[in-house]
Amino acid sequence: MTAKTEEIQQGIYLLKGEGKGSHNYLIRAAYRNVLIDSGLDQNFLCLQEQLLSLGLKIRDIDVVINTHEHLDHIGSNRYFQESSLIAAHRFAATKITLEDHYVTLYRSGDRNEVPLRIHLWLENRSLFDLGSHTLEVIHTPGHTSGSICIYEFKTKALFSGDTVFAGGTLSYIAESGSVGDYVNSIMRLETRKISKIFPGHGDICQNPEEDLSQAVLNAKKLLRGERGVSTSPYRPPISMRAH
Ligand SMILES: [Zn+2]
Repeated sequence: MTAKTEEIQQGIYLLKGEGKGSHNYLIRAAYRNVLIDSGLDQNFLCLQEQLLSLGLKIRDIDVVINTHEHLDHIGSNRYFQESSLIAAHRFAATKITLEDHYVTLYRSGDRNEVPLRIHLWLENRSLFDLGSHTLEVIHTPGHTSGSICIYEFKTKALFSGDTVFAGGTLSYIAESGSVGDYVNSIMRLETRKISKIFPGHGDICQNPEEDLSQAVLNAKKLLRGERGVSTSPYRPPISMRAH
């Protein structure tokens, strides 16, 4: 097991996801510790080790924000929900709490399924004031209806979940997603001043401006139904879908 962590901006750490799991990002702010996405359930031990290497226990995480409702982003929520506040956009929150497996593809695999909780139901433009960092929620439906990006004001970093990947690659349109919404969401992101994009999978976007204009082109092609639009290979694991 590798427990890789990297400080990618002041106070912001990339906790790399293994295999098909999403990356997790830790924001060690003045007032609070926030984790963006919890990754696959199977990667929990790795995540725990990554946090420990930074001197943090599970209960030291104050808030976990889910970028959307897919199992590879919410899978370890159940290990945090007793001691941390779990936050997600309300469209994601309904599916997670009502156990809409068709969309989330999530099952704990336990004999007694642990009901997942969302303590904070987010809206577009909700803010988290963490003292040294401020996080703004941008609702970016498309990949799914409950997808959000999170913008950090001080560093101008954007945590994009499965909405934008390096090179402007888009995600596939999953259940509850919409191509029209996707185009609109990406075009709204383009109006922001962004220093880096930290996606849920793959490499960090070093040239956000270029990557976002490519993403807009790709999204428009998707809308027109053109072939040859490269979408991300990061789909939830097939074995999970079969549960
Ligand atoms: Zn996803």
